[in-house]
Amino acid sequence: MERKGILFVISGPSGVGKGSIVENMLPFMSEILVSISATTRPARKGEIHGKDYFFISAEDFQELINNHQLLEWAEVYGNFYGTPRDFVMKNLAAGQDVLLEIDIQGAMQVKEKVPEGVFIFIAPPSVEILAARLQARGKDSRESIDVRLAACQDEMKQVVNYDYMVVNDQLDRAVNLVSSIIKAERCRIRNLDMGCDK
Ligand code: 5GP
Repeated sequence: MERKGILFVISGPSGVGKGSIVENMLPFMSEILVSISATTRPARKGEIHGKDYFFISAEDFQELINNHQLLEWAEVYGNFYGTPRDFVMKNLAAGQDVLLEIDIQGAMQVKEKVPEGVFIFIAPPSVEILAARLQARGKDSRESIDVRLAACQDEMKQVVNYDYMVVNDQLDRAVNLVSSIIKAERCRIRNLDMGCDK
C-alpha cells in the first residue's frame, strides 16, 4: 500500500506555545519531517542556522519571494518568515509527512495551495493566560505584548478555517492531543493510496 505524504500545519497566536508542543512531541512521533523556515529575524542565543531557521538577509528573502521559492510567507511582528516550497512539496510527493509550525497568515496561504492539509489551531486557555505567558517568557516589551494580545482577539476568529483546535492549557495534554490527531489522520482512508494492484 502506497500512501501520499500528509501536510500538518500547526498554527495559532504568538506565544501560545506552538513551538513547545512541536518540540515535546517530536521525540515520540515517528516519520514526520519538520520544515525549517527562512527568516529575516536575527538568531537568538543558542539558535542554529539550518536547524532552527535559515537566518537570511531581507534581500535574500525578497529573492526567495521573487523566485516563487516560498510556499507561504508573512511578516510577523516586524520580521519576515517563510516556508521553503521545494522541501515541502518534494517530501509530500515522496510519501513523507511534513509538519509546519507557522503563524496564522501563513497557514491561510498554505490552505489555499494545499487544501488537503491538516490544519491544527493551537489556542490559549484565555487571553489573560496568554498575557501572563508572554510576560513570563520575557522576550517582548509591554508594548509588543499589547500588540500581540490585540492581534490574538482577531486571530481567534480564524479558528473556523481550521480542522482541529487544541487548547494549550497543559503542555502534556496539548502534546497528547496533537499526537492523537496526527495518528488518526494517518489512518484516514483518504490518506491511504490503495492501488488495486498493490
Ligand atoms: P519566533 O520568531 O518566535 O521563532 O516566531 C515568531 C512567529 O513566526 C511564530 O508565531 C511562528 O510560528 C511564526 N513562524 C515561524 N516560521 C514561520 C514561517 O515559515 N511562516 C510563517 N508564516 N510564520 C512562521
